[in-house]
Amino acid sequence: MMRVGLVDATLVNGVFGDPLLLLQIGHQKRCLLFDLGYHGPLSARTAHQVTDVFISHAHVDHICGFLWLMRCRIGHYPSCRIFGPPGLAKNITGMIDGILWDRIGDKAPHFDIYEVHGNHLHHWQIAAGSPLSAALDVRAINDQIIWQETQFQIRAVTLDHTAKDCGPDNPFTPVLAYAFEPLRQVNVRKDRLRALNLCAGPWLQVLKDHVLNGVRDAEIQVEDKTFLSGELADKILLKSAGKRLVYATDLADSSENRSTLCSLAQGAHTLFCEASFMNGDKDLAGFTGHLTTKACGEIGTAAAVQHLIPFHFSGRYQALSDVIYDEVTTSCPNTRKPAA
Ligand SMILES: [Zn+2]
Ligand SMILES: [Zn+2]
Repeated sequence: MMRVGLVDATLVNGVFGDPLLLLQIGHQKRCLLFDLGYHGPLSARTAHQVTDVFISHAHVDHICGFLWLMRCRIGHYPSCRIFGPPGLAKNITGMIDGILWDRIGDKAPHFDIYEVHGNHLHHWQIAAGSPLSAALDVRAINDQIIWQETQFQIRAVTLDHTAKDCGPDNPFTPVLAYAFEPLRQVNVRKDRLRALNLCAGPWLQVLKDHVLNGVRDAEIQVEDKTFLSGELADKILLKSAGKRLVYATDLADSSENRSTLCSLAQGAHTLFCEASFMNGDKDLAGFTGHLTTKACGEIGTAAAVQHLIPFHFSGRYQALSDVIYDEVTTSCPNTRKPAA
């Protein structure tokens, strides 16, 4: 687990297992998932805290955990948003329809599905056991922003994961790469805290929440004194731009993919990027629409990210992880291993 600004980020299945990046937002009991491979180490409690899932594409290693998520959310839970490329609503309903739902009553899990079609977002509401209807609404996507709320926004770009080994009729396989962008970050100025003779306590978190939510007129009680949130925040908190985190996986090494991903990831604090194959297996990477270690590192360097975390390594290299990291590091000195 590693801290990136206001979130804790965990590659749940490590760098060799199915892609599944868990983001836990600060002290809130709220989780975001990027891809939904094998769920193994996650608890049902985590599944209950998931509000949004961002699927890169529907290959089995990226979506098989959906059945787990759905099962955990049988009961009275709010709808969970799931974003992904065209076809996602059909993929999800296909999995739902594989189950007999005759006893579900009002406990059916609910999902809001959003498919990214170029500059448009197609939206469906799905309840397990009910048939899929036509898209509920279609809205324009501005500036690649597919989701926005007070604390953060999510950008998505479409990349190409088309495999070359299936012949000329092989269909275009779109994948989405995502950027998690906190709109701002607040830190406590300890010198100001001391100057005002205030002791740190749970009230600081309450104050930070008010600032992040734009609330300036809430009353904050600190020991025997009462302050207005806006005035106190101006005195003791420092606001800065949030730390951007980018997630990209299953993309072919093409100049178009490189430039699209580099512009999304430019200057990011952390880039999680696939490096499925080693340099020596460049042909295999090309045939399957994946990156090599070298390409992954070059993208990290071109995007000038502070931390590059390569992942989704092919299982064939289990005993070679040091060599993999050496190869990525050669083209990107900012390469890091995810903290356990
Ligand atoms: Zn794939
Ligand atoms: Zn994959």
